[in-house]
Amino acid sequence: MTSEADTILVTGAAGQIGSELVPALRNIFGPGKVIASDIIQPEKQLTETGPFEKLDVTNRQALGQVISKYHIKVIYHLAAILSANGEKNPQKAWDVNINGFYNVLEASRELGVKQIFCPSSIAVFGPLTPRIKTPQDTILSPTTMYGVTKVAGENLGDYYVRKYGLDVRGCRFPGIISHEALPGGGTTDYAVAIFYEAVIYNKYTCFLKPETRLPMMYMPDCLKSIITLMEADFARLQHHSNFNVTAMSFSAEELAAEIKKHLPEFEIKYEPDFRQTIADSWPESIDDSAARKEWGWQPDYDLGRMTEDMLRILKERHRLGKLNYDKK
Ligand code: NAD
Repeated sequence: MTSEADTILVTGAAGQIGSELVPALRNIFGPGKVIASDIIQPEKQLTETGPFEKLDVTNRQALGQVISKYHIKVIYHLAAILSANGEKNPQKAWDVNINGFYNVLEASRELGVKQIFCPSSIAVFGPLTPRIKTPQDTILSPTTMYGVTKVAGENLGDYYVRKYGLDVRGCRFPGIISHEALPGGGTTDYAVAIFYEAVIYNKYTCFLKPETRLPMMYMPDCLKSIITLMEADFARLQHHSNFNVTAMSFSAEELAAEIKKHLPEFEIKYEPDFRQTIADSWPESIDDSAARKEWGWQPDYDLGRMTEDMLRILKERHRLGKLNYDKK
């Protein structure tokens, strides 16, 4: 559990999750207590509300210097290469996801960091895993480099818990839907892009097939899961680095139908690409009963509530001429 005196480091803070987690943590623990870091320069919102360090997590020495400089006690390790980008450059995915996390664990062990959060992903599952209500403890044989690195990361985190008593925690996130930073090259990115393009163009071309169902979660629930898990009593946890969590499951055609309730003229086309193969190897739905039992996980948003909220916020931003979107 984070105490008020603890200083927190967030790696990969400029990304989709970091750009919302950092403000949430600064709100709870105080702006000066949360050091944001990334290999890239983030939006001003992150640098103007508290400390920021340019940091490459594959550089062990630089990581150690930042931990020592701020007397870091808690790390939220978000720096990673995601599934679709990982297939374009598997060597880089290995380097950042494996060596980066190993550096975080080793520097933490040596420099007295107490607690680490490192997200895992539904990408740890593969074609041999049961696809409906995927169990907590099941077959982990992923077919992507991203999935391979996430399985290794879960095992590495649990090893440091057992061997060194380091408090490492993590959730297997499904696709995260949000309206601040755009997603960073994953297979579920369509579920964010569709909202932007619905609001701006009233049409969208989807890179997955209409019927492909995947587990998803709205950002407020993602932040809630991270904060609740990190605050949970360590003694109650039977799992550590690999909690299944979910909030909803839907296909692109189900999401499009939900958007049409608000924008009746909205049109969708389907042009599946290489990401379809990745999606086909992932679960349709997730059993997150271990997270519910061990630390009280409970999502707030379903498909209807999330869609309404996303459209309300993006429409308003578009009306004000402030909706920035690079069509990829
Ligand atoms: P993102 O791609 O949006 O952000 C990752 C950040 O890491 C980027 O800002 C990038 O600049 C930074 N980064 C890359 N290489 C780096 C390096 N060498 N050193 C320091 N920073 C580096 O990703 P995200 O969606 O914010 O994901 C955060 C974590 O959550 C990752 O571990 C990811 O695997 C996991 N996750 C995300 C989702 C999702 O849908 N967004 C789903 C499952 C798991």
